[in-house]
Amino acid sequence: LIEARGLRKAFGDNEVLKGVDLSADEGTATAIIGPSGSGKTTILRSLNVLEVPDSGTVRIADATVDFGDASVDRSTRRDEVEALRSHSGMVFQSHHLFPHKTVLQNLLEGPVQVQGREVDEATADARRLLEQVGLAGREDQYPSQLSGGQQQRVGIARALALNPEVVLFDEPTSALDPELVGEVLAVIRDLATSGWTLVIVTHEIRFARDVADQVLFLDAGVIAEQGGSEVLRDPQQERTKQFLRRVL
Ligand code: ATP
Repeated sequence: LIEARGLRKAFGDNEVLKGVDLSADEGTATAIIGPSGSGKTTILRSLNVLEVPDSGTVRIADATVDFGDASVDRSTRRDEVEALRSHSGMVFQSHHLFPHKTVLQNLLEGPVQVQGREVDEATADARRLLEQVGLAGREDQYPSQLSGGQQQRVGIARALALNPEVVLFDEPTSALDPELVGEVLAVIRDLATSGWTLVIVTHEIRFARDVADQVLFLDAGVIAEQGGSEVLRDPQQERTKQFLRRVL
């Protein structure tokens, strides 16, 4: 469902991604783990072109962008990027909710304003999603009336409201107080078991071990080890072993 080949990205002299390949099947959860600064967030942002890779290709469902192909004109590239983006939803470290809109209005913004869906139908879907993230009955509240964990769960529901093929999570719990982390991880776990395709950058190694079908260990811009959750239980590479010794 999702495939990236040969992703490279430099910020000035800093080569952050040095040729990253990854793929994920429909209905699976992929965890990207690794040391701080190894490029995890940059991979995720490349998948929906919040960062533009210098080269490499990204495909999600039927949309492909070949970033190394300089012959593509600007307007074609814009259309390609838009098509690619339409297949993924992103959950950020902090939720980026509109503070002056209610929870329900936040959820309707994308489906109604961007996708042009009927308000009634989108509202029914939004209510279902709020129930799924444990926030039924909160639709008329404003973000400031919710806890950080609840706000982040609204952020997740908002990403799902666009009905993307893949949901990309960028360290979704790292800005939360420790006591709020569990409720957000529980929601993500629930999504993983209910058939969503997820790619999750996380520092929560135990969570990754429990939930991920696929684990990618990134080190200095390359995938140093990948596999199932055994990568976290029984790593083969010395770099992975060292990292896990430090964080577990
Ligand atoms: P962390 O776990 O600390 O979030 P990470 O593995 O997600 O780290 P990235 O956020 O992808 O790492 O960053 C990788 C490197 O790229 C870092 O050295 C960072 O300073 C650099 N970097 C990321 N974004 C930019 C940017 N927009 N401009 C310049 N440098 C950047």
